[in-house]
Amino acid sequence: MVLRDYKTSVLITTPSSALQLANYVRKNGININIFELKTLILAGEAIGNEDRQALEEDLHVTVWAHYGLSEVPGPAIAFECNAHEGLHMNEDHFLPEIIDPATGSVLGDGQFGELVLTTLTTRAFPLIRFKTGDKARVIKQSCLCGRELSLIEWQGDRTDDLINIDGVKVHKKQIQLSIQSLLDLPSDTSKFLIKKRDEKKYIEVWIPVNDLIFSDEIKELETLIQRAENNLLENIGIPVAIRLKEKRMI
Ligand SMILES: [Zn+2]
Repeated sequence: MVLRDYKTSVLITTPSSALQLANYVRKNGININIFELKTLILAGEAIGNEDRQALEEDLHVTVWAHYGLSEVPGPAIAFECNAHEGLHMNEDHFLPEIIDPATGSVLGDGQFGELVLTTLTTRAFPLIRFKTGDKARVIKQSCLCGRELSLIEWQGDRTDDLINIDGVKVHKKQIQLSIQSLLDLPSDTSKFLIKKRDEKKYIEVWIPVNDLIFSDEIKELETLIQRAENNLLENIGIPVAIRLKEKRMI
């Protein structure tokens, strides 16, 4: 309704929300030509080529990926140019380094490692060698657009246990501790999967249980699991589905 009534031409959102919009448009048979939408600026998560192509085709837009962090004050840390061949670092404002997360040593161009940022122009909240936890690499090539700002490749992978769902970041440990206290089940060997239902991402946690539990206790546990899932959604803002699995499956 807002897109239509305000004749919105640029939408800034996360890839997950954009995919939900495209899904809604497709499912409801909405003629995309009633919108004036031309540009999608996506931040908060990385976008894969397949999803990018789907969005451009479904919504008749051009997609521009941005990279930013809530911990690091604006402007955008890195942005795409017309070539769409990586993200140009805003090097007037940030000094990027790629390090080996285990040893801290600086890696050469082309090698994937952890992106570390130092702010150059921020006054009130400067950061020195801030470890972003994001996996990235510097692409050594000159860009068709003529800019000499270095290009980085960022696919959304992390160097730590953080999960990013629709721009909301959560540590696996945080979920594990909640499950442990709510269900009294050891979850330190649990497995985390990111799944999608109706274009909406959620986390599925597989918790190993021994065979004994698959008896009378199961009904009782199901109620507790439901309660734990509601509690997690309320507290971290991300849907989490808890599945009990036999140890050998994990
Ligand atoms: Zn460029």
